[in-house]
Amino acid sequence: MKIAFIGLGNMGGGMAANLVKAGHGVRAFDLSEQALAAAREHGCETFTSASEACEGVDAVVSMLPNGTVVKSVYTSDVIGKAPGGAVFLDCSTIDVATAREVAEAAEAAGYAMVDAPVSGGIAAAEAGTLTFMVGGTDDAFKRAEPVLQGMGKAVIHAGQSGNGQAAKICNNMLLGIHMIGTCEAFAMAKKLGLDPQTFYDISSVSSGQCWSMTSYCPLPGVGPKSPADNGYQGGFATALMLKDLKLALAAADTAGVDTQMGRRALKLYDNFNSETTGQSDFSSIIQMLLPAGQD
Ligand code: NAD
Repeated sequence: MKIAFIGLGNMGGGMAANLVKAGHGVRAFDLSEQALAAAREHGCETFTSASEACEGVDAVVSMLPNGTVVKSVYTSDVIGKAPGGAVFLDCSTIDVATAREVAEAAEAAGYAMVDAPVSGGIAAAEAGTLTFMVGGTDDAFKRAEPVLQGMGKAVIHAGQSGNGQAAKICNNMLLGIHMIGTCEAFAMAKKLGLDPQTFYDISSVSSGQCWSMTSYCPLPGVGPKSPADNGYQGGFATALMLKDLKLALAAADTAGVDTQMGRRALKLYDNFNSETTGQSDFSSIIQMLLPAGQD
């Protein structure tokens, strides 16, 4: 297929490279010249505008910072510029309402569109092992699926337009909450004189077990290798966790759900983010409980 790829940052760069590896012709665009140069090295053809990249394509994939940018790129440079009947896949994490609004505008103009946000960070984007949660009609999903399979290990249809984003923010709200809970449990175990590895050996096979503990332990040297073992570099930035919690809490307010734990997680990540650069992995929030040197 001929695919336009818009937004070649930390995530999009690896995803576009994997579409090339999967045998697609990729027409790439980003505002950053550095990102375009890297995309050329991975076999993409690059263009000076999104609308030019969309010429003659079967599909458009985007991986952009937020809903405002997604809406502006689709309404100004994609809808009406890509050939009629093309399928659009927005993989960015954005709010449900904007995802539905952009998909409606695309459908009204004769395109199919899915929201397809991802689980998995930069390493999964590079390895082609992302999980995609997809919102859209059955027909749009069927057409988007082969494109997504070139970039991920799992592609799951979550239902109507916007439901991919709904799944993503519910998942990440839960992740933020259980990461903080895991940090509190390890900090307390340590302060009570329990060796963290011993606590891990017990809790990882007991009812406190969760992904933040057994796949992504926030303490270095405990459990499988995680960003904690790499000075909290790489992984999923604190600022991105904060972004997702804000999206989740805004959606909870709209839906009238009193997500008190989610609200508390947002407050804690907001405090932590403002006291740091926000660029360390989100598991580094353990440093609020165990300052560096005490872990
Ligand atoms: P990033 O900032 O590295 O990349 C975004 C890219 O979009 C940049 O290269 C930027 O130049 C480009 N861009 C911005 N405005 C543009 C425009 N108008 N036209 C073309 N290009 C434009 O961000 P990222 O980490 O790659 O994240 C992208 C999306 O993926 C976000 O929505 C984020 O929430 C989501 N996400 C990120 C991660 C992660 O671990 N980084 C994980 C899951 C989801």
